[in-house]
Amino acid sequence: ELSPALTRAESLIRSIPDYPEPGILFRDITPLLADAEALRVTTEAIIEPFAGQFDVIAGIEARGFLIASAAAIAAGVGLIPIRKAGKLPRPAASVDYALEYGTATVEMHDDLPIGSRVLLIDDVLATGGTLAAGRQLIERLGSHVTGISVLFEIDGLGGRDLIGDLHTVFHSA
Ligand code: AMP
Repeated sequence: ELSPALTRAESLIRSIPDYPEPGILFRDITPLLADAEALRVTTEAIIEPFAGQFDVIAGIEARGFLIASAAAIAAGVGLIPIRKAGKLPRPAASVDYALEYGTATVEMHDDLPIGSRVLLIDDVLATGGTLAAGRQLIERLGSHVTGISVLFEIDGLGGRDLIGDLHTVFHSA
C-alpha cells in the first residue's frame, strides 16, 4: 500500500550486517536522507496520521533529531530534543531504562507548556525501550504524548507490544 515514491524511499534504507555488533542488522537511513524526494515524502508520511493532534514534536537523539526537525518544519510546530544523559545544560527530568546490556538515560528540558500535546518521533523502533522512556519523560513533565511515529519498525523485537499504538512508515519484512 506504499505509494511509488515511498516504495522508492524505502529502497534507499541500507541494511548493514553485524553493525555495531555481531548479530545486529543495522538500518542505515542516511541514503534516504540524502535524497530530496525521499526525505520529503517520508517526512510527510511520518506526520500525516497526526494532523491537528499535536502542538510540538519531540525527537530522540541522534538520528531521531534529523527526522523530527524536518517534521516540525513541515508541520509548522516547534521541536523538543530528548537527549542522552549529560548532554543538556539544565535537564528538568531524566528517565533510566534497560538496554540489552546495561542501562541508558534520556533527559529533557522543560521548554514546553504543561499540557502540551506531543508527537514523539524516532528513526528506528527495535525493543521500544527508548521510545517508552521518551514518553515517560514527556509525561513526567506534565505533557501528553498524543502520537508516536517512527520511520522504520523492526518486527519481532517486542517494540509494538511495549509501546502500544504507534505509526510506522516502513517495517522489516
Ligand atoms: P530500542 O530502544 O531497542 O527500540 O532501540 C531503538 C533505538 O536504537 C533507536 O534510537 C534506533 O536509532 C537504535 N536502533 C536499534 N536497533 C537498530 C537497528 N537495527 N538499526 C538502526 N538503529 C537501531
